[in-house]
Amino acid sequence: MPSKSELLRLIPKVDDLINNEKITEAAQNACRQVVLDSIREQVDETRKRILLMEEHEAAELDAGRLVDEIILRVLSKNEMSLKKAVNATGVILHTNLGRAPLNRGIKEAVWEIAENYSTLEYNVETGARGSRYDHVQGLIAKIAGAEAAMAVNNNAAAILLALSTLAKGCKVAVSRGELVEIGGSFRVPEIMEQSGAKLVEVGATNKTHLSDYRKAAEGGVEGGGAGALLKVHTSNYKIVGFTEEVPLAELVKLGSEYSIPVIHDLGSGALIDLAKYGVSGEPTVQESILSGADVVCFSGDKLLGGPQAGIIAGKKSAIDKMKKNPLTRAFRIDKLTLAALEATLRLYLDPESAVSSIPVLSMMTMPLKTIEERSARLCSLLAGKLQDCTVFVEDGHSQVGGGAMPLQNLPSKIVNIKPARLTVQELESRLRGSKPPVIVRIHKDHVCLDVRTMRDEEFPLVADAFEEALNSVGDFEEFWE
Ligand SMILES: *Cc1c(COP(=O)(O)O)cnc(C)c1O
Repeated sequence: MPSKSELLRLIPKVDDLINNEKITEAAQNACRQVVLDSIREQVDETRKRILLMEEHEAAELDAGRLVDEIILRVLSKNEMSLKKAVNATGVILHTNLGRAPLNRGIKEAVWEIAENYSTLEYNVETGARGSRYDHVQGLIAKIAGAEAAMAVNNNAAAILLALSTLAKGCKVAVSRGELVEIGGSFRVPEIMEQSGAKLVEVGATNKTHLSDYRKAAEGGVEGGGAGALLKVHTSNYKIVGFTEEVPLAELVKLGSEYSIPVIHDLGSGALIDLAKYGVSGEPTVQESILSGADVVCFSGDKLLGGPQAGIIAGKKSAIDKMKKNPLTRAFRIDKLTLAALEATLRLYLDPESAVSSIPVLSMMTMPLKTIEERSARLCSLLAGKLQDCTVFVEDGHSQVGGGAMPLQNLPSKIVNIKPARLTVQELESRLRGSKPPVIVRIHKDHVCLDVRTMRDEEFPLVADAFEEALNSVGDFEEFWE
């Protein structure tokens, strides 16, 4: 058995390791510095490990293992923190997983703007400064049936901008049934405070009447009445039972009586009514515009199925004022987002094909027969690969998520996996650690996969991830013992 000092001498030199063929090949995409850092760190750690050993423990130095450890280090240093993940949860607009995946066909349009200079704020006809808001204004206006439109960073910014522009220093009436909180960080009362408007709660939690809004508006702005009316779509909850809310069109009538604007926070921003596909429950942007709201605000990355953005559509006079608000500079939309948004909106020019080309919409409207066929395919792929697991398909539900249609469960066929030698919690955690991470749900003692939010190309990846998660049982720990 070698002594500790012999072992220390046996550690290969950094110069030799940097020329090691296996390392060079595995680290092809890494820069030299990353490889060097990884070698030095691993050599140091090996040295420390040897020094900490009792003399009688000193075993062989495994040079092959040292090389493997260096390669693992290089690969992990070289990995992006923000990376693709497989969403097997069946939650279509999963906020933690990046909400809406985009249509593959818009890749070129986005990359073209990313790698080149562009006409972001340049008017090629006049040779003078242009506006970044012009690129999508016409499209949104046309699709939504609005006079004007603009896009900012997200819907929270859109609402803050609308309130700050149209109601700063004024009272704004909101129904007590609509004081929404979205994902912890967006709360109507707090946004209101930030905008400089003063929240006036009207009505009760379950019932708000037109007379409640009227009381708040009475006297007009000069007489101490509200300076704007805000209607908020309660996207992530429903008040059921003995309830009443005032339709937007009636609020618009009241607003014009007192010459105050009506703002509608629509939340998810459906541009297509999916009722004929059996998915209903979300009001459309077009309905709000038709009802006469001065301003309608909605997200770009919820039901619209585009990149993160906040869209404001409505009366030209209101939108023009917003463009001049200094806050707009802080909320302005980035050119990559703008390119992705414009390319996504163009798909809506043909609504029929939009339903199949926009991933979020095609997931929502995926026929149960298709889901059944795909689940069966994934099930047999997994069953063939994972010998000692129970794998079967069961009826279940997908969810729209993203604070839309909270009560609508979309019927689905769930692939269930019950591992024999691992707990489901352990399996779920290992799947999170695979490359790419596979995010699953646990139900009872099964790991559940919903094909609705997965792409066919991901099936083999997922099967490999399962195989590795189930088989790497001992050796992963042993490697780092
Ligand atoms: C989601 C949502 C928001 C926030 O939109 P973001 O684009 O996430 O900023 C605001 N209001 C409602 C009603 C929502 O559903």
